[in-house]
Amino acid sequence: GQTFDTALAQGRRAYELDRKHVFHSWSAQAKIDPMTIVAAQGSYVWDGEGNRLLDFSSQMVNTNIGHQHPKVVAAIAEQAATLCTIAPPHVNAARSEAARLIAERTPGDLNRVFFTNGGADAVEHAVRMARLHTGRYKVLSRYRSYHGGTDTAINLTGDPRRWPNDYGTSGAVHFDGPFLYRSAFHAFDEQQECQRALEHLDRLIAMEGPTTIAAIILESVPGTAGIMVPPAGYLAGVREICDRYGIVYIADEVMAGFGRTGEWFAVNHFDVTPDLITFAKGVNSGYVPLGGVAISEAIAATFADRPYPGGLTYSGHPLATAAAVATINAMEDEQIVQNAARIGADVLGPGLRDLAARHPSVGEVRGLGVFWAIELVADPATREPLAPYGGTSAAMNEVVGACKTNGLLPFVNFNRIHAAPPCTVGDDEVREGLAILDTALSVADRHVVH
Ligand code: PLP
Repeated sequence: GQTFDTALAQGRRAYELDRKHVFHSWSAQAKIDPMTIVAAQGSYVWDGEGNRLLDFSSQMVNTNIGHQHPKVVAAIAEQAATLCTIAPPHVNAARSEAARLIAERTPGDLNRVFFTNGGADAVEHAVRMARLHTGRYKVLSRYRSYHGGTDTAINLTGDPRRWPNDYGTSGAVHFDGPFLYRSAFHAFDEQQECQRALEHLDRLIAMEGPTTIAAIILESVPGTAGIMVPPAGYLAGVREICDRYGIVYIADEVMAGFGRTGEWFAVNHFDVTPDLITFAKGVNSGYVPLGGVAISEAIAATFADRPYPGGLTYSGHPLATAAAVATINAMEDEQIVQNAARIGADVLGPGLRDLAARHPSVGEVRGLGVFWAIELVADPATREPLAPYGGTSAAMNEVVGACKTNGLLPFVNFNRIHAAPPCTVGDDEVREGLAILDTALSVADRHVVH
């Protein structure tokens, strides 16, 4: 209709202005051709030409509740009409209620919540708390990980985005985590991979000096780095190592948390209680920027009589926390976390495994809930990736292009296509996405050497 035509015209104008005035993240400014999105609803977005795309990216794995959920939109409008902003020292009703709802869903005694503006600053503050709690400086993290774009967070990040940001002063030390398909330990099965990964971590700690290490930060299921679901026993093993050396265990659940894996938090699959959990994204589906740190009683007690030296103007912002309250309540009322678990177990997981069996370009599919990666290879025998680690390739661009042409917007990283629809996604929508992936993977198959 007319409003849609207006939206398209606005989209064209927006693109022109974007190319003139907007400075984009992680990009060579002159070499990009960003996609315009003019509207979104549920599991779909509409691009600048009016094409409908199934959103298997969830906008950086973020809109767990889907686009434009009416209860969340209404809660933001209602809060805006009442009280748009208030400084963090004052009690505010939305923040108090959001903190309660989050604390009730975190495991163990992580009963206190510090709110931030997003994931990276949640990581910054979790690390600061761990350092002050232990009086130590170093922080260990996985090579294959992403923890955010700010200074400490990007240096903890294991992927190549760290390289140009590393000045050697961050105190970050990296280790290899379990990833059987590309095992750093020459392991034959998950159990051996798990055992060797834990031995490697233990040895690294011995060599670095246990009394110098404040924290281990670990994505419970690494997201951007490839959705490597940890083998049974790995996270419990990390917990045991942390306990042995007095190291703080930070679970980064910015991407995996709030229903994405089919549990409120991914650690719940493994019966493990970290000392700190960082979260963002799914906490309110990104409708208003929000992140935070859930804090154990022991770490909170460190700052009972001594001030915590940190804060943010927008910590617990009313619009953001009102959106979190509405999101969590809607997820509970509409059984959205259960839907993510069921979709993963019954529709998306089996569908992706079927694609893996039929397409030689698929080295492996991995995931749980609505959190899956398709690992594309140029050679199934050597497992040579379809794009190099840290880079892109013409072949990958062609595959991603085929997804978009056929109406699917995936999350893409190096040689991987991730299937991460909203937790609210329906069975038919998933089948539609699988059919488009089937077509796109046929394009990938043409690049396979054997
Ligand atoms: N941690 C993890 C696991 C993430 O996936 C991300 C973002 O993708 C971040 C931290 C950083 O979050 P933000 O981009 O909100 O700063």
